[in-house]
Amino acid sequence: MANYKTCKDCGAQLLSDDISIYRKLMDRGADEFLCIDCLAALLKSTRADIEKLIAYYRESGQCTLFR
Ligand SMILES: [Zn+2]
Repeated sequence: MANYKTCKDCGAQLLSDDISIYRKLMDRGADEFLCIDCLAALLKSTRADIEKLIAYYRESGQCTLFR
């Protein structure tokens, strides 16, 4: 059993940002996650938009998920 999380849709290895943004946008208590590409597809958005949101939350310092 690998000790990293994978996307429940495509199986891609997840980074901590992928998990944080999924929790932020979808479900704070989630223990299964989507990678940024799959999350973007689900939200009819783009990877670039999701990455901008991640940067925004990190820079704002307001969200405890991004510390
Ligand atoms: Zn995926």
